[in-house]
Order: sequence, then C-alpha cells, then structure tokens
Amino acid sequence: MLLVLLVGVSGFFLVYWATSETDRVATARQLYLLDQAQAETLRVIPYEQESTTVWDDAVRAALGWDSSWLDANLGSWMHDYFGFDELYVLDPRDVPVLAFLSRTGLQAHVSPEFGDVLYPLINKLRARLRAGDGPNAAKMQTPGETALKLVGGHPAIVSVKPIVSDTGKIRQIPGNEFLHVAVRYIDGPEYLAELERKYLFDHLRFSTVQDAVGNERVYPMVTNDNQTIGYYIWQPYRPGSTVMAYISPMLVLVFGGLVAGVFVFMSLMHRRETSQDAVEARMHYMVMHDALTGLPNRVHFNQRVDLELSRLAPGGAGIALLFLDINGFKQVNDSFGHPLGDKLLYEFGQRLLSLSRERDAAGRLGGDEFTLMLTGIRQREDIERFCRRLIELARMPFNIEGHQIFVGLSVGYAFAPEHGQDRNELMRKADVALYHAKMNGRNDFTGFNLEMDVLLRNRRRVESDLREAMVSFDQFKVHYQPVYDVKQNSLIGFEALLRWQHPARGWVSPEFFIPVAEEAGLIRDLGQFVLRKSCEAALQWPGHTVSVNVSIIELQDADYAKNLSAMLALTGLSPARLELEVTETAVVTTGACEDNLQAIRMMGVRVALDDFGTGFSSLGRLTQIDVDRIKIDKTFIHGFDQSDCDKAMVRAIVELAQATSLLTTAEGVENIRQVEFLREIGCDAIQGFYFSEAVPSDQVLALIAAEPDRAVLLGDRNH
Ligand code: C2E
Ligand code: CA
Ligand code: CA
Repeated sequence: MLLVLLVGVSGFFLVYWATSETDRVATARQLYLLDQAQAETLRVIPYEQESTTVWDDAVRAALGWDSSWLDANLGSWMHDYFGFDELYVLDPRDVPVLAFLSRTGLQAHVSPEFGDVLYPLINKLRARLRAGDGPNAAKMQTPGETALKLVGGHPAIVSVKPIVSDTGKIRQIPGNEFLHVAVRYIDGPEYLAELERKYLFDHLRFSTVQDAVGNERVYPMVTNDNQTIGYYIWQPYRPGSTVMAYISPMLVLVFGGLVAGVFVFMSLMHRRETSQDAVEARMHYMVMHDALTGLPNRVHFNQRVDLELSRLAPGGAGIALLFLDINGFKQVNDSFGHPLGDKLLYEFGQRLLSLSRERDAAGRLGGDEFTLMLTGIRQREDIERFCRRLIELARMPFNIEGHQIFVGLSVGYAFAPEHGQDRNELMRKADVALYHAKMNGRNDFTGFNLEMDVLLRNRRRVESDLREAMVSFDQFKVHYQPVYDVKQNSLIGFEALLRWQHPARGWVSPEFFIPVAEEAGLIRDLGQFVLRKSCEAALQWPGHTVSVNVSIIELQDADYAKNLSAMLALTGLSPARLELEVTETAVVTTGACEDNLQAIRMMGVRVALDDFGTGFSSLGRLTQIDVDRIKIDKTFIHGFDQSDCDKAMVRAIVELAQATSLLTTAEGVENIRQVEFLREIGCDAIQGFYFSEAVPSDQVLALIAAEPDRAVLLGDRNH
C-alpha cells in the first residue's frame, strides 16, 4: 500500500511539475511577446510617419499653412489609416499648425501636460537637425525622436519627425523644419484588443499601479530613462494547468482504481492466506490425530515420545510406554456392527484421556491398538499401579446405544531408560510384553523382560520348526486333563491338550505355538491330528467324554463339519462322546463358522464355549448363543481368593447358564476352596491342577482305575 501511495504521489507531483513548468514557459513567452510587441510598435511608428513626412507636397502645405490639406494627409488620414491617437504639425517656432486629437477632433494648441512631454523631444530633435544630422534623401529616411511616456495618465508612444522634401528641391534651414508629431496610446481598448488577438492574451488591461490579483501576470512598462510608468496585467495562458485540469479527474480515477485494485488484491491474498492457514491448521490436526478418537496418531505420538526421551536425564525420572489391546473388540464389531464398535473406541479413548496426566500422552495406532506414554516414572510399582487402574477402568461396562458392553484389556509395557532409550526399541519391547500379557489371559498386564525378547525372536524359527515337525508329527503328543462332575464328584471326561516336544527346546507351550500355527496356516493339519488322536484315545475309555479345542481358523473352513463326520466314521467314535471347545469369536462369527457349528450340533457333537468371560461383549447375549456348555475362564477362578467381584461374576454366569439350560465347566481349579465355592453355586463340571494336569494317553487308564479311591478322598475332605 505504501509503495502504491508513493508511486501515486510521486506520479502526481511529476505531472504537476510538468504542467506548472509548461505554464512557466508559456508565461515567459507571453512576457517576451509583450516586449517584442512594444519594441515593434516603437520601431514601426516612425516609419509610418515617414510615409507622409518625406514629401514635397507636405512641405509646401506646411509652409503655406494649408491646415485642411495637412489634416487630410498628416492628421485624420493617419489616424484612420494607422490608428494614431493624436497628430500634430508644428511650425519652426513650435506653434501647432495642426493639432488632431482622436478624442476631441482638431484643436488650436498643445495641452500644457503634453507640452511637458513633447518639448524636450522637439528640442532634442532640432538640436540634432541643426548639428547636421540631416535627412538621407536616397533612403527616404529622416532623423526622429521616439519615446514611451505617460501622457495625461496614459502610456503613449510619442514620435517626432521633420517634414522634409522627398526630391530635395525644397530647401529648409536645418533645425527650422516643420515637425510632425504622432502619439499612440498603448492602453487603448483597440490597441489592447489587437494585442490580445495577435498574441493570445486574455483579459489584458493596463494599470498605473500593480494591482494584479489571483493568477494575473504583470509586465512593467519601463521608459528609456528607466521609469516604470505602469503595468500590463493579464490572465496568463496556462496550457499546463489546462491539461492538469483536464487530466486530474482521470489521474484521480486511475490512482483510485490502482489503490482499490491493490487493496482488493491484498485483501484477497490476506483472506486466501488466512483460509490457507486455517486449512493448514486443520490439515496439521488431521495429520497428527486419529479421526475416530481425536487422540494423537502414530506420527504425533512418536513425536511426543521422542521429545520426552530427549529430556531424560541420568538419575531422573523415566518414562513408560504402554501398549493396550482391547479384548473382545472384534466380537463387539462382529455382533453389534462397526458404527457401535467405533463408538466404543471413542469412549475408550476418552477413558484413557481421563487417566493421563499433563505430560502423558495417549495415542491410537490403529484398530483397537492404543498406546500410552507415562512420564515421571520412578519405579516399576508406579506403572503397575497405573496398569491395574487402567484395566479396572476398561472392565467397567460401556453404555452405548442402550447396550451394556463389557470388554477387557491387556497391557504390555516397557520403560526408559532401563529398556533402552530408543523409541523403536521401546515400542517393540512394549509390543512383545503385550503379546505375553495376552498369552497370560485377558485383563492382564506384563512388563517387558529379556526372555520374552528371546521368545519373540525365536518365533520365526519356531514356524519353520513347526513345518518340519509336521512332516512326521512324531514330536507332537496329545495329553488329557480329566474333567469332573461337581455334584457326583466323579470323573466324566478329558480335555485333549496338544504338546510339542521340540528336539532342542524341550516342551513348547501350545499357548505359544498354536498362534504361530494359526498365522502360518498350519493349524488345520495340526487340528486334524489332535482330533484323530483324541477320537482314537477315547475309544480306549468308553463311558468318558473327550473335549477337543478347535481354532476359529479351522471352523472357517467350509469343509470342517464334513471332515469331522468323516473322522467319526473312520475312528468309530460316537458323536455323543465328543465335545468341541471353541472361543467366543467363533460363536458370534457368521458365515462358514456359523454353518459348521450348526452342522456339528446336528451331528450330535456338543459345543462348548471356551474361555468364557474374557472379552465377552455382553453377558445378556449368553441367552442367544447356540452352544451346549460354557467354560468359565480360569482367570475368574484364580480371582476368587483376591476379590468377591469375581465370585459374584461366576455366580451370575452360572445362574444365567442354568436359566438357559447350559452346562457350565470351571477350568483352572487349583484348590479346595474353589471347588467348594463352585459346588455351592451349582457349577456342573470342574477341571484343574487341583485334580490333575493333562497326562499322556497311557496314564489316562491309570487315572480311571484310581478314580474310586480319589472320589473317596475328595468326599472325605468335603465332609
Ligand atoms: P485352554 O483350552 O483354556 O486349555 C486349558 C489350559 O489351562 C491348558 O493349558 C491347561 O494345561 C491349563 N490348565 C489346566 N488346569 C489348570 C490349572 O489348574 N491352573 C492353571 N494355571 N492352568 C491350568 P495348555 O495345555 O498350555 O493349553 C493352552 C491353550 O492352548 C489352551 O487353552 C487352548 O486354547 C490351546 N490348545 C491346546 N491344545 C490345543 C489343540 O489341540 N487345538 C487348539 N486349537 N488349541 C489348543
Ligand atoms: Ca479348552
Ligand atoms: Ca480355557
């Protein structure tokens, strides 16, 4: 804007300067013209006189005092022809023979005021004539006196010439010639009008005093003897100002347009910039935050972590990185739909925020994976206390669209500086810890430790070892854990649990290698192996059931039910003696899974819902699920000793199951108190280390044989 103003103002001044300079030059020219006009008048008047004063007839008429001839030729004629105002013819004694005044006509004498001007001129001329400054007959030139004088208050050019012979035939005494006087007023209206017309003057006037007003210009009229006798005053011709007046509105318009244009342009730029800023800020927010929960996304979270890591001081407080996994989120999504799942994630994010302090950070990495960074950590207990609160918070029911939704939470954590100060390393370790927390059961937290790392690093090697082992299957064994009826206090069946004896590592837990097999696509063959072994083994102990764990991956195979019936036919096991254990995910998944479960139950094979209570979306849905039995997860049973809450939960599950005529099995029973409580609430079956671990198939018969003794022992204890 300043620049535009500067350009505008300097442009205006340039134009102004140019036009006023033009005016100045024009005025100077008019002054020069006035100079020239006056000089011209002074020069021309004597010549005009000579047209009649150098003439034999005139000399004769003067000598003869023929005043009428003189008037006709040297008086009124010259007034008419040349425009002289006053004309005189004087005799050698300076007595007027003729006095013609345009204002009054012919007079008899010279007025005294005019005499004061005239006689000095006459004397000067006669003196010159007497001194021999005679006429030059050849050139028709005569000496003369011309002066600019103030006559009766008017500027006038007064010119005196001798009247002489043009042929030289009439002789006169030098100094005694008749004289001709011509007077021209140069302030008369005619004269001024002529000047105006000839030299483009405007309002030209004469004044004896300098009374110019406004723009009027002044030309001082100076006589030969340097007397200022008056002033020409006029409105100067000012082409510059005319141009200026003409183009000013245009200039103002153009400049105004320019200013307006720049203003509009700048405000547009400004608006664009501010809207761009807003868009940028919004985009920055979008780039940095997760759209669903509004929590920082991976990029943003990483930045926060890096910042805190860079602030770590030796001996100071540390930070913890927590990886969170919502248990049962998939089921919520599958059974209630994605919009509700999204709301659950949002609500969960809000709960995370409510727990975190100022410098902590919560983030969502995608799916149901959340992260937390805790700052100011001094000891492991700080983190563990926080994890317990976190899990408790997650287990509180979510009230979404009228549904009471229960989920669980697994937490894995690593902390700096103990587990390293590199973000990627810390995150990997927290992830490994989460993996183990999930292994331990739902609703658990685990801190990273070195063995885990080794385990995870071995995971890939485990996969290739698994493939190798599945060529002959002889590294695999199926063990059987007895299951007891609570009321009858009797052995009713066995759960088949797969064991892998690795040639180098020894026993590898199914909790570790089953997920690997699922990921590697090996679970189907492995499952068929367990199923065949279990069916074959069960033929050895008639009267007892056998339960086989089935992965959801297997159930998603459209041929599963068909293969199962083929297996039963092959081994000859009665379907009534077989029970399949599936997780909750399988029960709520539609498609092939649903069809398989239906076909299995149609065959007469029972289905048990395994690990019930961990991450189940809603207790209320228990009544809508098509299974024969539910197996209450061991974490609830283990919780009996610590909290009444878990007891209440199990009681509710059992009551609800009874109301829907579902059988219940409690797993992981490890002590008599648990047995007693379960019996009290009416649980149907129990299994656990309190009775027996899973045993090789060749020990099953021994277990069955020892059953009567055991029952007595247990019965004794009970009473
Ligand atoms: P699960 O089906 O919940 O099996 C019960 C697990 O609890 C077994 O672990 C068993 O050894 C353990 N357990 C039994 N009683 C107690 C007790 O009193 N206290 C405690 N703390 N634990 C007890 P295991 O054999 O390591 O199996 C782990 C999981 O591996 C099983 O959990 C099951 O989900 C899976 N699994 C095992 N065999 C197979 C299989 O043949 N096929 C499939 N798909 N999964 C299998
Ligand atoms: Ca099981
Ligand atoms: Ca279980």
